[in-house]
Amino acid sequence: MLRVAIDGPGGTGKSTIAKAVAARFGLEYIDTGAMYRALGLKAKRNGVNAADEDAVRDMLAATTIDFVGGQTHLDGEDVSGLIRTNEISMAASNISKLAIVRAKVDEVSRYLASTKDVVMEGRDIGATVIPDAEVKIFMTAAPEIRAKRRYEQLLAAGKEADYDRILKEIQERDYQDSHREVSPLRAAEDAVFLDTSNMTIEENIDAVAEIITAKTGRSA
Ligand code: C5P
Repeated sequence: MLRVAIDGPGGTGKSTIAKAVAARFGLEYIDTGAMYRALGLKAKRNGVNAADEDAVRDMLAATTIDFVGGQTHLDGEDVSGLIRTNEISMAASNISKLAIVRAKVDEVSRYLASTKDVVMEGRDIGATVIPDAEVKIFMTAAPEIRAKRRYEQLLAAGKEADYDRILKEIQERDYQDSHREVSPLRAAEDAVFLDTSNMTIEENIDAVAEIITAKTGRSA
C-alpha cells in the first residue's frame, strides 16, 4: 500500500506536482480541494448560505461527488471547468469550515485511499484524513511567489490579471484556511517540508519523487 499525502496552502503548485508524481509512480491522483469546490459551487447555485448549517446538511444529503476519468462530477455533471474560478475558491473555503462538510469529503477521500494506491492532495490529508500515509509532504511557497505564478498563468492564458488583487485573495484564503476551528491547514508532525519558492516545476517533481523513494524504497 502506498499513500502519498501532499498538503499546503493554495497556489503552491500542489495539483500540478501531485498529478505528475502520480503518473510517474503509477498511482491514482485524488484532488480533495475539487470536492470542496464542487460543494461550494452547488451551494452558490442553490443559494445555500455556508453559515446555515441545516441548509448545508440538507444539501449534502442530496449530493453525490465522483471522480470519473480524472474529472470532477457533481450529481453526475462534469463540473471540472466550472470550479476553477476565484469566486469558487472562496466559496469552497467558506463551506469547508463546516464539520459536516469535512466529514462528507473525508469519507469519500478515505474510501478512495483504501481501494488503491494514491497521491492525495489537500490541506489536512497527512494530519487528519490519512494520518498513517506512508509519505507526507507539506509544500509551501511565499505568498508573493504564488501570486506571481498565478498572475503569469492568467496572462499566458490570455486572461486579464491584477497582481495585487491575486495576492490579496491568496492571503485571505491562507488566513481563513489556517484559522478555521475544524481541521485547519496544518502540517502533520512527521511531514517533510518542501519550500518550492525557488524551484521549477521539474525540480519540484524530482524533489517529491526523491522523498517518496527515500521513504518507501519505491522508484518511479
Ligand atoms: O486546493 P484547492 O485550492 O482546490 O482547495 C479549495 C479550498 O478547499 C481550500 O481553500 C480549502 O478551504 C478547502 N480544502 C480543505 N481541505 C482540503 C482541501 C481543500 O479545506 N483537504
